[in-house]
Amino acid sequence: MSSLARPTDDPPDGTAPVPVSLEPDHTSHLFDDGNAERYRRSVTEVVERVASRLSRVDRPFTGITAAELEPEFAAIDLDKPLGDPAEALDELERVYLRDAVYFHHPRYLGHLNCPVVIPALIGETVISSINSSLDTWDQSAGGTLIERRLVDWTTERLGLGAAADGVFTSGGTQSNLQALLMAREETRERALADPRDAAWTAADVLPRLRVLTSEVSHFSIAKSAALLGLGYEAVVSVPCDLERRMRPAALAAELDRCRREGLIPMAVVATAGTTDFGSIDPLPEIADLCAEAGVWLHVDAAYGCGLLVSRRRHLLDGVERADSVTVDYHKSFFQPVSSSAVLVRDRATLRHATYHADYLNPRRAAGELVPNQVDKSLQTTRRFDALKLWLTLRIMGADGVGGLFDDVLDLAAAGWALLDEDPRFEVVVRPQLSTLVFRYLPPGAAEDPDLVDAVNLHSRAALLASGDAVVAGTKVDGRHHLKFTLLNPRTTPGDIAAVLDLVADHGRRYLSEPAGRELSGSRAS
Ligand SMILES: *Cc1c(COP(=O)(O)O)cnc(C)c1O
Repeated sequence: MSSLARPTDDPPDGTAPVPVSLEPDHTSHLFDDGNAERYRRSVTEVVERVASRLSRVDRPFTGITAAELEPEFAAIDLDKPLGDPAEALDELERVYLRDAVYFHHPRYLGHLNCPVVIPALIGETVISSINSSLDTWDQSAGGTLIERRLVDWTTERLGLGAAADGVFTSGGTQSNLQALLMAREETRERALADPRDAAWTAADVLPRLRVLTSEVSHFSIAKSAALLGLGYEAVVSVPCDLERRMRPAALAAELDRCRREGLIPMAVVATAGTTDFGSIDPLPEIADLCAEAGVWLHVDAAYGCGLLVSRRRHLLDGVERADSVTVDYHKSFFQPVSSSAVLVRDRATLRHATYHADYLNPRRAAGELVPNQVDKSLQTTRRFDALKLWLTLRIMGADGVGGLFDDVLDLAAAGWALLDEDPRFEVVVRPQLSTLVFRYLPPGAAEDPDLVDAVNLHSRAALLASGDAVVAGTKVDGRHHLKFTLLNPRTTPGDIAAVLDLVADHGRRYLSEPAGRELSGSRAS
């Protein structure tokens, strides 16, 4: 294993073989029995570095721009390896670790990124080292059963019944796509079998399919409709109430309209935790309407799934009536990306993701009862992400995870109270989960909506550039707002108050320093 040179063929003049190369033996990099010590040393070293970085992070971000960071890359020649892990990690410090956005920092309030729990990180090390692939049993013995147990555990928490099943996916986007694929196929089969529509062909059905979802549902619903050949036009946007929850009466009206116009509702997608507002659509009322109309109900609980283990489980009441559900453990279960699943009430519907390949999962093997996850998945080779959640549940337990999520929901309630009583700000909705959408109203300028937009855009950019805090933004009724997504149980109301002061300071400075305004160039158009 440690030979540094390879002998050449004997030279023709009969002299002794000479080494011609001093190339290292790259098999020393392989994760194998001969290199267990190198593996131990390398992984320990990188953990030491990350831990040391972790203890030095004092802001969520350094504020670096891509233009400032790019020159670091100019000197790197990917065809000239450094050889030494320590040197490569030094370089990584400069190009990544030093300036990364750190989600664990209490003033990271940006997107739906959670701090991750250490039990899951233990899992990550095992996942990528053993490198099981969850498609077939002969690539993931044991892993397949761990994933299946977690799928069952989740469907039990959801209350989907004895015939339920599901599969882990790369994220909510893929889960939503797969759910809508199943809805499309089930609806199409039913429409073609319906004697009232005997004249219909497959080609007639596709353009008539509609997906009904609220105006603030996740964009992956629209994207899925497009990917599934329905087009963006197939998505019917259902109006919300002031709390940004789908209005059942509006849904009923749209279902009615579909029927009158000869359109076929293929799925209603309810959101349990909208990305922008954390609002939860009224699931029982929506489930009633779906049952009445015979329409597939998909619940996108990518964000709200943490409620399954929280004291507020009742907020998900009605989810047990769904035909399919999306959960993102990498949002509210404090899991590292990726960790997500799509769950279904009737396991038979997963057949729409099945394709028999002779080399992998031949039809003849289907009867052999060898557990095989590729038949349920859009992916083939697939990471053993389930192991992270497994170790999390085995070490911390579900109540531990739920307790962390409850802490951020309590924090959101406290943050809303702060915003609500602060005349500098206007807050949009009282959160059901953990987002706060608001905007700064500059004194004296509140009547100029374009200026209010510009001030808020500026405050967000200025905060990011300072690195003191990271906040998100979104539009509400066409106007720029700021958004805190709270997923860190370590964030305190004091952090929220401090970041609000920073927002207001940047806003005030923007208004009082016209020169700075030109530089930032963020006046809304
Ligand atoms: C985040 C999110 C998604 C998409 O999930 P990814 O894991 O980012 O692919 C879908 N729906 C909702 C409601 C979300 O918040």
